[in-house]
Amino acid sequence: MNPKNTSQDCSNCEEKVPKELNIRTHSCSHCGIVIDRDLNAAINIKNSDLGITSLVTTSDGETFANPKNLNKLHKKLRLAGKSLSRKTKGSNNYQKARLKVARIQARIKDSRLDYTHKRAYSINQRKSNCCS
Ligand SMILES: [Zn+2]
Repeated sequence: MNPKNTSQDCSNCEEKVPKELNIRTHSCSHCGIVIDRDLNAAINIKNSDLGITSLVTTSDGETFANPKNLNKLHKKLRLAGKSLSRKTKGSNNYQKARLKVARIQARIKDSRLDYTHKRAYSINQRKSNCCS
């Protein structure tokens, strides 16, 4: 999911609450919630990316779960990102840590694509009147 604008949407009622970057609290005029802007964004990301239990529900009610290996990769990404933030910018160790983060991000991307492609293929196989 794209983290852009996640702090604009209300994590409580999903209404868009436009705000300038220097406003650090999220106060929603629709549902009245007042929380830290970053917390609001974090809840939005969690809800849209990791919090949902099924990835797809087809029109006949079949559901597909989220790929489970992503949790492991996200944990690795979190640790690698933390390690990167402790490095001096521009140093060799910074470069190494940066590459590590990039590799994990690429794996997450690949694994997402692989999973969705496989699900799409299996749906297409069974409902051959679609997209053939
Ligand atoms: Zn709200």
